[in-house]
Amino acid sequence: MTQKVRVRFAPSPTGPLHIGGVRTALYNYLFARQKGGTMILRIEDTDSNRFVPGAEEYINESLRWLGIEIDEGVAEGGNYGPYKQSERRDIYRRYVKQLLDDGKAYIAFDTPEELEAKRAEIANFQYDASTRLSMRNSLTLGADEVERLIAAGEKYVVRILIEPGREVVVDDLIRGRVVINSSVIDDKVLYKSADDLPTYHLANIVDDHLMEVSHVIRGEEWLPSAPLHVLLYEALGWSDTRPQFVHLPLLLKPTGNGKLSKRDGDKLGFPVFPLEWHDPKSGDISSGYRESGYLPEAVVNFLALLGWNPGTDQEMFTMQELIDQFSFEHCSKKGARFDYEKGKWFNHEYISRMDDESLARLFRPILEKNVDNAADFGDDYVTRAVGLVKTRVNFVGELMEQTRFFFVAPTTYNEKDIKKRWKEDTPRIMGELIEVLEGIDDMTSANAEAIVLGWIKEHEYHMGNVMNAFRLTVVGECKGPHMFDITELIGKQETIARIKRGIDNIVSPQ
Ligand code: GLU
Repeated sequence: MTQKVRVRFAPSPTGPLHIGGVRTALYNYLFARQKGGTMILRIEDTDSNRFVPGAEEYINESLRWLGIEIDEGVAEGGNYGPYKQSERRDIYRRYVKQLLDDGKAYIAFDTPEELEAKRAEIANFQYDASTRLSMRNSLTLGADEVERLIAAGEKYVVRILIEPGREVVVDDLIRGRVVINSSVIDDKVLYKSADDLPTYHLANIVDDHLMEVSHVIRGEEWLPSAPLHVLLYEALGWSDTRPQFVHLPLLLKPTGNGKLSKRDGDKLGFPVFPLEWHDPKSGDISSGYRESGYLPEAVVNFLALLGWNPGTDQEMFTMQELIDQFSFEHCSKKGARFDYEKGKWFNHEYISRMDDESLARLFRPILEKNVDNAADFGDDYVTRAVGLVKTRVNFVGELMEQTRFFFVAPTTYNEKDIKKRWKEDTPRIMGELIEVLEGIDDMTSANAEAIVLGWIKEHEYHMGNVMNAFRLTVVGECKGPHMFDITELIGKQETIARIKRGIDNIVSPQ
């Protein structure tokens, strides 16, 4: 019988979820859905010093925005809870005791000052087999003394006892097999009496075991944590049911040198967080993909391809297609360069393909902010305006610039275009154009086009000059979508009014 797939995303609420964390969540989700498995969200809040208010809500909101659904978690519930580590103290205590009773771990009383002194004394000091017998711990102190110190309220930690000189084999579905000598691993702290909480390593493993996690898909650097975890599973007697490790490729800076950081985003002007983050302490605001005008589908598509490829040329994927095609075999070991331009390209593609009504709905608040009489324009009008320019933008916000003339008639005109297109006889010809337009009953694009172009040809006018002068009066510059699509939408009266205003206001420099 194959084991049921259960995966978890296990963020620590120490700040806003980084875009790399989002990718980890996404890969967990894709794998879970593909296998008909379960997606767990576990909040790893055992490091009380680094706890940041609002971070957990931020994680939830980010995942919701992106469509990454959770099956078991703090909000969702489930049979393996609590799903927040700070609520699982009793559980961890049990396993700390088990490790101590079995001689797989020991109690250490060394103060930070004592450890500091050792570091100063011994180059590359590591708390391990070579040094532990010169330290203040339950291996060097008598049992009575240990009890006395604990009773006296002395702070202690529990450390794993790593046997030196052993070969530790780590198998990873992406990285393959690696063999590490246990001597390079230190006796990591598993528990701190000061706050009665386990450290990340112990809590993470106890929970993965108890929550019956089948695959640990994580995004951080895999060495040296993974071999330590192998030894910890062994110490707890759980080697046989150890989950599969899957360590994802790092996300690299756009240059490809080193890990992507928050600073890269600040420097190069792109967000590294899914949502805008207001730092509760400093008050600093960091930009987010959502507030920068990204569509969640575009972010998901972009992130999915940072470290995974489908093995074909396909670039556009719906969430369902990703679920169907995702595989660890097609994840790379090498780090994935964070190509922000590609992210913009995805957003452009998604906006271009989005249906006009939905896009208009996203655009409406921006319109309201920028145009005083926005309420005068019905949804149908806005929808059609947006539909005419959507292939020209990367972000929803850019629709304002591209559609402004649909809502506000130009009052100034592009100088360069005037110089190039507004000739001496242009006002006269524009006057004639007004007459032609007045004679048109059906302003639909193709009909108006046939009549106006017919008139230009009949009089042997310069097609480029006349059409561009026309555009200049209506748009304010020689840019924009098809001219007769514009006039169909703004209507005959508005078109004629704008041409008249152009004739009155455009002064040719010649
Ligand atoms: N809380 C850890 C982190 O956020 C979890 C790593 C893991 O997935 O095991 O880095």
